[in-house]
Amino acid sequence: MSTTGEYDCVVIGAGVQGSFAAYQLAKSNQRTILLEQFVLPHTRGSSHGQTRIIRKAYEQDFYAHMMEECYELWAQLEREAGVKLYRQTGLLVMGPENSQKYQQFKSTLQRNKVPMVTLTRDNFSQHIPHVNLAEGDGAVVDITAGILYADRALKTVQGQFQKLGGIIRDKEKVTDIEPGPVVTVSTTAGVYRAKSVVITAGPWANRLLAHTGLQLPLEVVRINVCYWKEKVPGSYDVKQRFPSFILTEGEESKDDIYGLPSNEYPGLMKICHHMGSETDPDQRDKQTDRSDIDILQRYVARCFPGLLPEPAVVESCMYTLTPDRHFVLDCHPTYGNIVIGAGFSGHGFKFGPIVGKILCELSLGEVPSYDLSPFRIRRFQAKTKSAL
Ligand SMILES: Cc1cc2nc3c(=O)[nH]c(=O)nc-3n(C[C@H](O)[C@H](O)[C@H](O)COP(=O)(O)OP(=O)(O)OC[C@H]3O[C@@H](n4cnc5c(N)ncnc54)[C@H](O)[C@@H]3O)c2cc1C
Repeated sequence: MSTTGEYDCVVIGAGVQGSFAAYQLAKSNQRTILLEQFVLPHTRGSSHGQTRIIRKAYEQDFYAHMMEECYELWAQLEREAGVKLYRQTGLLVMGPENSQKYQQFKSTLQRNKVPMVTLTRDNFSQHIPHVNLAEGDGAVVDITAGILYADRALKTVQGQFQKLGGIIRDKEKVTDIEPGPVVTVSTTAGVYRAKSVVITAGPWANRLLAHTGLQLPLEVVRINVCYWKEKVPGSYDVKQRFPSFILTEGEESKDDIYGLPSNEYPGLMKICHHMGSETDPDQRDKQTDRSDIDILQRYVARCFPGLLPEPAVVESCMYTLTPDRHFVLDCHPTYGNIVIGAGFSGHGFKFGPIVGKILCELSLGEVPSYDLSPFRIRRFQAKTKSAL
């Protein structure tokens, strides 16, 4: 196989966003190549691991609105590939009843007519056993929420892309991007030319964007992915219909804490802090800060009496954060045929199918299906100017 070539589109980075972008491009009959620096599958970016939460419960209507179509696209992929990727568990949202954040979650669910149940202090433990609802906290359940089988989803979408004629080259790092009407992408193994390029490089986004003279205000943090042992096996199991959850603000942290029922490691429930410490993506494990684990230990001891309050397993993953925690979905400000999907801020997996669709539309010069103003690069530039 030749390591040079002409394509309609080169997609850089085979995480969830690049894989879905490549799949959508191939569906639109674009000759597409997907380049990945590591051997696939790998655990060094942001898309690995068995599970992710999918939900419509958000503070902002635009996310709830995008999720409407996104659920359909996930189901479509399941049907196409004959694989199960989603399991409904419901999502319990807890938070200080009078806080703005909790109220926004609740009103977004109501406004968007998402099937939901509001729990009261009296009936909470009947519905959600083995969890202590903090004094002053409210609780609602987004019924349609659940978990996505992440690793399986990635494998599936990459497989579908290849079935459509798409080419994946892994262990091939992009080392240079030369903008122009035809973009030249150099890698450790070859040179590719294409009418458009999609950059979906996760924590490495700014390294690649440097070749195009652009830097985004992205912060990469390491997340300790913690699994907690059930005292009585099965108490928090997905098979017992235990839900996923988000605590919007707790005694221990102003950042969210979230969890998923025991599933991938029987007897272990995943509970994580939605924030980590800054890291270099090439030296992730040099970051050894455990303050997030301390926060989680205090939280688990206070609210999950059925779990041992120290993690049995700790894995790691990275978030790429934007200042406002909204994604970047846009064309390069100088080179319209370079499309960027970045800054998924620890909540982008569930949006993979819709992000792929939008990045494909941008790359084809089509009008995107959604209002992209929350995701445009100029929002950062506007902020910088007004701050001066
Ligand atoms: C612990 C954790 C829990 C999460 N939970 C949820 C959740 O419950 N729900 C949810 O919706 N989201 C969740 N997320 C967020 C979600 O997983 C991420 O937003 C998403 O995976 C980001 O995907 P990506 O494709 O942008 O990045 P990545 O998966 O990092 O992919 C980028 C790819 O680009 C490749 N690359 C980089 N540079 C180059 C180069 N020079 N040449 C070639 N290839 C290159 C990388 O190797 C990598 O494979 C979670 C994330 C973490 C870490």
